[in-house]
Amino acid sequence: MTHSGDDPSSGDSPAERKMRFLYQIRSRGVTDAAVLQAMERIDRGQFVRGLFANRAYEDMPLPIACGQTISQPSIVGLMTQALQVRPRDKVLEVGTGSGYQAAVLAGLARRVYTVDRHKRLVRDAEDLFRKLDLANIVALTVDGSFGLPEQAPFDRIIVTAAAEDPPGPLLSQLKPGGIMVLPVGQSNTVQTLIRVCKRDDGYDYEELRPVRFVPLIEGIANE
Ligand code: SAH
Repeated sequence: MTHSGDDPSSGDSPAERKMRFLYQIRSRGVTDAAVLQAMERIDRGQFVRGLFANRAYEDMPLPIACGQTISQPSIVGLMTQALQVRPRDKVLEVGTGSGYQAAVLAGLARRVYTVDRHKRLVRDAEDLFRKLDLANIVALTVDGSFGLPEQAPFDRIIVTAAAEDPPGPLLSQLKPGGIMVLPVGQSNTVQTLIRVCKRDDGYDYEELRPVRFVPLIEGIANE
C-alpha cells in the first residue's frame, strides 16, 4: 500500500507507533505488567513481510507465508496473560507461524519450544530469532497435534490453531499444575478460547472468549 490516507500509523515516529500499539493492547484487556513489557520489547514489524508490513502496528491479524496468519496482537497478549507464564517455565507453542507469539513468550519463560507443520515458516522464524538474539527458543517442523514427546512434560502449552477438542497428546504432555491455552471449535468461524488447568486427578476447563484461528491440520506440509 503505497498511497497515503488509509494508514493511521504513517508519519509517526517509531516511539509514537510503539506507544499507540501498546495502548491498543492494554485497552483490550492486557493489563499484566510482565506481558506488556515482553510485548514492548518485541517489534511486531519484524514479523510481518511484504504488502502488509506497514500494518504491523495495528491490532489486526495479517497474512503471512504459506496461507497462514500472524494473530492479532491483543489476542497474543490475552493468550499470553491467560497462560500465566513463570520465569522457570518450559513452554510449548503449537503453531509457530511468523514466530511473533514465541518471541513474546521467550521474554517470560526459561525456554520456548515452538513447532509448525510448515518448514518454511519454521526456517524464517529461526532466522528472526537468531537476528533478534532470542536464544531460548527452539523451533521445529513437526505435527504439533502430537505435541513434542521428547521434551515433555511442559509447564505451559499454547496452541495458536483451532482444533475441535484439546488434542489428547497435549493434555498428557502437560505437568500437573500446568496450564494450556487454546482455541477450540467445530468450524472456522465459531471458536472459543479456553484454558485448561491440569490437576493430579483431572482437568479444569474455563471458557475465556470467542476467537477465530486457522485450523489445526494433521501431518507435515509440503513446504
Ligand atoms: N502463533 C503464530 C500464528 C500462528 S497461525 C504467530 O505468532 O504468528 C497458526 C499456525 O499453526 C500456522 O502457521 C499453521 O501452519 C500451524 N499449524 C496448523 N496445524 C498444525 C499442526 N498440526 N502442527 C503444527 N503447526 C500447525
